[in-house]
Amino acid sequence: MKIETIAIHAGNHTDASSKAVVQPIVMSTTFERDEDGGFSSGYQYSRSANPNRASLENVLAQLEGGAEAAAFSSGNAAGMSVFQSLEPGTHIICPDDMYHGLRNQLKTLFEGILEFDFIDVNDEDALNAHIKPNTGVIWIETPSNPLLKITDIKKVVAIARGYNIKVVCDNTFATPLCQQPLALGADVVMHSSTKYFGGHSDLMGGALITAQKNQWWEKIQNVQTMGGAVPSPMDCYYLVRSIKTLPYRMRGHVQNALLLAQYLEKHPRVERVMYPGLPSHPQFDIVNAQMSRPGAMMSFTLKGGEEEAKKVVNALNIFTQATSLGGVESLVEHRASVEGPDTKTPFNLLRVSVGLEHIDDLIADLEQAMA
Ligand SMILES: *Cc1c(COP(=O)(O)O)cnc(C)c1O
Repeated sequence: MKIETIAIHAGNHTDASSKAVVQPIVMSTTFERDEDGGFSSGYQYSRSANPNRASLENVLAQLEGGAEAAAFSSGNAAGMSVFQSLEPGTHIICPDDMYHGLRNQLKTLFEGILEFDFIDVNDEDALNAHIKPNTGVIWIETPSNPLLKITDIKKVVAIARGYNIKVVCDNTFATPLCQQPLALGADVVMHSSTKYFGGHSDLMGGALITAQKNQWWEKIQNVQTMGGAVPSPMDCYYLVRSIKTLPYRMRGHVQNALLLAQYLEKHPRVERVMYPGLPSHPQFDIVNAQMSRPGAMMSFTLKGGEEEAKKVVNALNIFTQATSLGGVESLVEHRASVEGPDTKTPFNLLRVSVGLEHIDDLIADLEQAMA
């Protein structure tokens, strides 16, 4: 099946008893036993498994072309479950511009439990130099946040395979509509479902999708069900509902993003546009090799520095100044302020999540804000 069909059907089934075409939400936390004490429905207690979560996990696995998925209550909970599944003392190699929430999680909660290095994962020499006997995972995030740097997934996988190291790819910015890391050899894909999967800025969620069922994946599933950072049946339902339109939303997001990036690149007050869909992107060749679409996240720097950047943000009317991404509404943020004092993000940089408004209105808004 093609991805549009998977998105609509793999997370839903007609209800056997009521014949409802849309799968009902099962709020019950507990499920009745059979006379012999068994659970023939497959459900026992909602932290372990719930019909809405099962459907969500099924559609997530199929969208990424994986064997199985595990849904979590947030992207950070998904990331944390990977870290918690590793033996104490395991070394992880992470990107130097890893999503700041996960970087902070490692530094704050896993100091002394795991070892980690933050490096330019796409730099082959740096990567080889940092691999140690206890390295268990190489973490990839591509395109990266907020500089939209690209990591060559196949190249990292080839290096990791030589040492029996697992590769985890945070695919939140790309979504499976733009990039499918498992097909490029990654072992596990991570998502913040809060972003494009949810798509309407109204729910939190996270996901892990594995290429193969193995012992490590079983450990991750144990962290999910014993740790209990699972999404509610309601959130699973809303995610399944949103995912049905994901393929068409992504088409719209990407179409708008391309036009917006082209507009910004020509604007005299813009210093630089960072968008994987522009031929001026320094890694445009890798983008074309591993992404089917360039996504809809971009950053740009303004001539005139921080003050200028903040002025533009405040003059925008349709773009809302807020963090996060992937919703139908366009968002803009002064990223350095969000990331705090130790940020390496340029102070004249604005990050944009391009929404689904009409492109003419988005361009007109930027035009008046930069006038
Ligand atoms: C938002 C985000 C996360 C964290 O997800 P939450 O749902 O906020 O916990 C992780 N990685 C990336 C790339 C993100 O954008």
